[in-house]
Amino acid sequence: MKRVVVSSGLQEVDIRPPALMSEFKRLSIHDAAEYFADSAKRVEVDCPACGANGGTPVFNKYDFLYVKCGRCGSVYVSPRPT
Ligand SMILES: [Zn+2]
Repeated sequence: MKRVVVSSGLQEVDIRPPALMSEFKRLSIHDAAEYFADSAKRVEVDCPACGANGGTPVFNKYDFLYVKCGRCGSVYVSPRPT
């Protein structure tokens, strides 16, 4: 895990223990598969940053397609859950 130290001396690991973050990630992946598995319930969306429509597919992660906006370069999920 990347160690980030802020001026207070508090470290990222102090507020985000690796074991807890691993469990959080595992549960998030499980919930995404359980609640958003039906791709028919997903909708194409315009870029949330600049409003341009369309986008070029860049990668797929946990069954979600990420596209890159041709105008501003933002990467976002589309289609996404309603
Ligand atoms: Zn954009």
